[in-house]
Amino acid sequence: MARNDALLRITKLLLAKRTQLRKRLGMQLDQLDKGPTVGDSAEAAFTASGEEIATQLAQLDARELGHIELALHRVKQGMYGVCNGCEVKIPVARLDALPYSVLCIKCAREAEKDSRWLDDRLSTLDFNKMGESASRELSLADFDLSK
Ligand SMILES: [Zn+2]
Repeated sequence: MARNDALLRITKLLLAKRTQLRKRLGMQLDQLDKGPTVGDSAEAAFTASGEEIATQLAQLDARELGHIELALHRVKQGMYGVCNGCEVKIPVARLDALPYSVLCIKCAREAEKDSRWLDDRLSTLDFNKMGESASRELSLADFDLSK
């Protein structure tokens, strides 16, 4: 049971982190939407570089959010904490350090060599569908952690 308690605790963290990231990403995208303000050229240049940084930050956040969505997808399948590659149980210590990890260390190394691995996994997820279920406040009861 100790493992399930740990998984439950980490799942709560993931949900909180997702809410936080979604909020932040929403604000960043809002800012980008407003576009450059009209002013003198120096000001315009400053705005442009600021936007570049904002875009990069948004991309980082979006990527992290993708990892988290993938992990929560595994939770929903009752497969969180089980390696997506070889199906061994991922040690809680690894999940504590990297809550959105869906791979054991061995498979993560393999995935690092092939950067398309994660993108392939992410592309199979239906984010719109996930958004729907999230909008009715995802609760821990939605997750089957008994496996
Ligand atoms: Zn593995």
